[in-house]
Amino acid sequence: MADVDATRGTGPTPPGPRQTADGGHNRSHEVDALRAAETAGRPGAFDDHHPPRADLVSDCVHCGFCLTTCPTYVLWGEEMDSPRGRIHLIAQGLEGEPLTDSMVTHFDQCLGCMACVTACPSGVRYDRLIEDTRAQVERRHPRGRRDRALRAAIFALFPYPRRLRLLRGPLWAYQKSGLRSLVTRTGLLERLAPTLATLDSLAPRLRGVPRPPRRVAARGTRRAVVGMLTGCVQSAFFPDVNSATVRILSAEGCEVLIPPGQGCCGALSVHNGRRAEAERFARRLIDTFEQTGMDWFVVNAAGCGSSLKEYGELLADDPAYAARAVAFAAKVRDLTELLDELGPVAERHPLPVTIAYHDACHLGHAQGVREQPRALLRGIPGLELREIADPEICCGSAGVWNVLNPEPAAELGDRKAAAVLATGASLLVTANPGCLMQVAAAIRRQNGKIALAHTAQVLDASLRNLGVAALTND
Ligand code: SF4
Ligand code: SF4
Repeated sequence: MADVDATRGTGPTPPGPRQTADGGHNRSHEVDALRAAETAGRPGAFDDHHPPRADLVSDCVHCGFCLTTCPTYVLWGEEMDSPRGRIHLIAQGLEGEPLTDSMVTHFDQCLGCMACVTACPSGVRYDRLIEDTRAQVERRHPRGRRDRALRAAIFALFPYPRRLRLLRGPLWAYQKSGLRSLVTRTGLLERLAPTLATLDSLAPRLRGVPRPPRRVAARGTRRAVVGMLTGCVQSAFFPDVNSATVRILSAEGCEVLIPPGQGCCGALSVHNGRRAEAERFARRLIDTFEQTGMDWFVVNAAGCGSSLKEYGELLADDPAYAARAVAFAAKVRDLTELLDELGPVAERHPLPVTIAYHDACHLGHAQGVREQPRALLRGIPGLELREIADPEICCGSAGVWNVLNPEPAAELGDRKAAAVLATGASLLVTANPGCLMQVAAAIRRQNGKIALAHTAQVLDASLRNLGVAALTND
């Protein structure tokens, strides 16, 4: 993708206040200095409730290998909008600098895509650093009125599946009546309410699908009992993905347990610094599933899976839940991981279709699940898999980042859509509802012609011998 590459380069010289005179890095001195600042009662930007850890900051050797994989650095070429720059800002905070508006803007502009974690040869835990930083920002930094109101509205809606489902009726009527086409053509909404226009552009076309039952038996010999997360956005706007997931699991010999009232897993909250809220959601989910006797807990949304696997860290301070959270997290599997571990038993029918597979950041970068979905798709007779250029660069969805930062998100979405369309595939496949909505919106903007599906829907179509038309006909 030429336009992406054109913005790349080695970038400006890194900030070097902690480099030694000979250009090397005296890491023990760095750790000592940061720890001294922490313990001298000069917390700077951060208080002592889970501040970003000085030892993790000091793991960064400022090499810059992460820069070209960072979407904000790709967009703007600004050091402080790179992983290395943000780690430098965190270090400044630990050394006693106050939390300024400018610092917060650079932290806010991070998508949390974790491409930098994949790219980093030194194993820097940027994921931990930004999560702890964000929690500090949310507790300690006063936001402007508009930002506060927007965030309050987002977090009063998105982590609540029932509230999201209430939107389905009005949204369906809006789409069916032709009002949506009119609003899009006139650009009226974009002028009057840009945030609503962003949400409107992202909203998928709704389909009616019955909600899954509480328990679905395994077909044939039972090989495992699995609990399943239905999710928030997934259950409200992509219920067909959940139905496909249940059918696949059952066909592959899994008894599926889907207790109602499971709520949100807390991913959106924890990724946005709302730690206490995320902890509440996590406790509720553990309570809901703990006694079911499940062998595994299956997730079909990448963002949810990555935070579920970190429940042990999230609830480490809670004596009543710490050990239970570790046990729960150990059972969490992405759908494709579990199917890979179990091995196939259900017959795959041919699907002669060319697919472009998009690695959702929270599946590829955060969970390291890249091979399993590809192996699953390649196991379908007749299916051809094509790779997308610059796969490590985020599509710009990133939870609610695209709602909070619509312009750069649209730019990243347009880049991804161009790379997807360049594959010449007739179907784009990914494993996250956010990516599906984000890339679909960008493809519509470019008048592109490609169908979209979740990995589960592709495998389900093969198992049920539905043919390609079931996936490519809108
Ligand atoms: S998480 Fe993504 S956006 Fe944030 S610093 Fe790392 S690569 Fe950049
Ligand atoms: S690749 Fe790792 S060590 Fe190098 S600058 Fe980025 S975060 Fe620091």
